[in-house]
Amino acid sequence: MEKKCFTIALAGNPNSGKTTIFNAITGTRQKVGNWPGVTVEKKEGSIQKSGYKLNIVDLPGTYSLTPFSIEEIVARDFVIEQKPDVVINIIDASNLERSLYLATQIRELDCKVLFALNMEDIAKQRGIKIDGEKLSQLLNLPVVFTVGNKNQGIDTLLEKAIVLAKQKEVSVLERKVKYSKDIEKQITILKKFIDDTVSEFIGYKKRWLAIKLIENDEMIKGKIINSSQSKASDIIEKADACRKHIIAIYNDDPEIVMTDERYGFIAGIVKEVITTSRQQRVDISRNIDLVLTNRFLGFPVFIFFIWAMFQITFTLGAYPMDWIGSGVSMLSGFMEQILPAGLFKDLLIDGIISGVGSVAVFLPNILILFFCIALFEDTGYMARAAFLMDRIMHIIGLHGKSFIPMLMGFGCNVPAIMATRTLESKKDRILTILIIPFMSCSARLPVFIILTGTFFHTQAATIIFLLYILGIVMAIITGRIFRLTLLKGEDAPFVMELPPYRMPMIKSLVIHMWDRSKMFLKKMGGIILIGSIVIWTLSTFPLNTIYSVDYDQNIKDIKTAYAKKLNTADSASLKIIKQQYEMDLSEQNNAKSIEKTENSYLSRLGKFFAPVFEPIGIKWRGTVALISGFVAKEIVISTISILYNVSENDSDSLSKALKSSGMTPLTAFVLMVFVLLYVPCIAAVVAIGKETGSFKWAFFSIAYTFVIAWVTSFVVYRAGILAGYC
Ligand code: GDP
Ligand code: MG
Repeated sequence: MEKKCFTIALAGNPNSGKTTIFNAITGTRQKVGNWPGVTVEKKEGSIQKSGYKLNIVDLPGTYSLTPFSIEEIVARDFVIEQKPDVVINIIDASNLERSLYLATQIRELDCKVLFALNMEDIAKQRGIKIDGEKLSQLLNLPVVFTVGNKNQGIDTLLEKAIVLAKQKEVSVLERKVKYSKDIEKQITILKKFIDDTVSEFIGYKKRWLAIKLIENDEMIKGKIINSSQSKASDIIEKADACRKHIIAIYNDDPEIVMTDERYGFIAGIVKEVITTSRQQRVDISRNIDLVLTNRFLGFPVFIFFIWAMFQITFTLGAYPMDWIGSGVSMLSGFMEQILPAGLFKDLLIDGIISGVGSVAVFLPNILILFFCIALFEDTGYMARAAFLMDRIMHIIGLHGKSFIPMLMGFGCNVPAIMATRTLESKKDRILTILIIPFMSCSARLPVFIILTGTFFHTQAATIIFLLYILGIVMAIITGRIFRLTLLKGEDAPFVMELPPYRMPMIKSLVIHMWDRSKMFLKKMGGIILIGSIVIWTLSTFPLNTIYSVDYDQNIKDIKTAYAKKLNTADSASLKIIKQQYEMDLSEQNNAKSIEKTENSYLSRLGKFFAPVFEPIGIKWRGTVALISGFVAKEIVISTISILYNVSENDSDSLSKALKSSGMTPLTAFVLMVFVLLYVPCIAAVVAIGKETGSFKWAFFSIAYTFVIAWVTSFVVYRAGILAGYC
């Protein structure tokens, strides 16, 4: 029976356009997850084409298949173990020579390979002409030209892939890398030895196995040693003998010699198939880089871009923020009208709508911020930023590359923590993950905006800027300390890849932005919803408050007293009396609800923990807000609104309540410092646990950020008092 379902894997260098082609093929029918066991993004999607079901898998982008990074191992294991029907190798046609290294390694795996020469447009612009026919003959595989972002050649690519998948056997691949005589001889000897010793070995092709053993590939060696084969150690011994032989002849490691020979093979191919017309080689990217990575200009331009990003985020975001805000008030107003009074109504309006609503208003900001970050990435500027920051990052003992996830941390720490996947060294990853929580994420911003707006007026913007800087400084200091203690080690030398500048595609920008914002929405529907309900419940119960004053009687009295006055008042004084009336009424209501909250479980919780925060000047209400902020920092503000019983969802009444609560500019500032530095939210903690592969680091992160927040706040508070601010 004919097979009707094929698996097609997309392999290729980073930035070759893999994801673009993957998106072009699968459209919206894709699933994003992690590769089993490791946290490298896995994208899958399936489509119907000419009566076949095609499962498309986007392999991690790599430059080779040597097992130096998780990405390389994942890609290699997938091809070997899952045996996709076809591997489409996506090649950046404007960079053929570099791409062919991976291509030759994939071909050595003896699977069915098809080349997609992508970015044909750019190659043409640069005056590079590739003879596809010839390349196809030389390597004995089909070649298709594509322009991923314009959907050109994708259909042909899929058709050829199906034809290739249907072919019975891999046609004999004579034209793979031929190593020099001495090496070939050792490969043959070892292959024969393996052939004679074992009949089948986890599906590996014997020649490939021999090559890898001669190259001293630790992964493969490990797999052989761990296999239950009784002859495993014989094979390893034999391989060592073959290696020694080669070392004796070349006076160099076999892996180095073989890499050289692969490059020789590639250089040969390139000579055969590429013609370049000289006069057209004006390299636009290089010209742009003359400015953007210039020693003197680069940095100011970079700061400007970051500043512009925040400007756009907050000024442009303010409009939709208002709309959502009024939408939320309308919704709660509407519910107020139609629902009968009772606990359920309170839960819905004061708990759920006001809790989730106070966070939902920040969605536009977050969308814009992520859009800007996607723009930096897709144009190729992000790599330049990392390049510029390299020197500063070396203070911490990290590469410029770590700066990319840190920058994303200003949006939300969760995707930032996930973005550390691009870092090769595990220690670098953990270190970067540990300092990301000091990057002030957008969830902390509402807290800053409200507190600075209330207590600092004209200097609000400066104070917020200072807080961001404080976060960065803390990241650098603690990063340096960790590098010297817990995560000792050299930063491995590396070359920062500077991809050419590209015109970003709207579709890909939107996909990137959406991928990350989805997380925020999930958080809103999940953790923030639950958090709001819990806070509301704790602040509402127990119901049996015994009031010191009979507020209900007072309210009644006020009503009757004013009813008379209002009736007899002339039109001139009517307005003033009305105002007076409303003030008196709300005074009673506020006093009543404050007494009620004082009696609530939430307040008991706050008072229980208050001694911890007493030395840094934070009272029990602040304590409760900080505890709830662990769920998500956004909730700090909703908690404060619930605690001060601000029924209107507007910042004016919240400001008034804050001022009358005895909070001073100094304690407000201390509270903000604490919010900036303390414990990442639950979502971030979970991300830390997942990405570091151990919850040990997650708990560590909770503990040390808490200590740092406390100590810093203490210093600020005491210094403030000494300086005469109270
Ligand atoms: P990946 O790292 O291999 O997944 O690469 P991406 O798919 O993210 O593509 C990197 C960039 O190249 C994106 O900005 C794409 O819009 C762009 N791109 C992809 N294919 C082409 C192409 O054929 N021509 C041009 N000019 N740009 C492309
Ligand atoms: Mg990609």
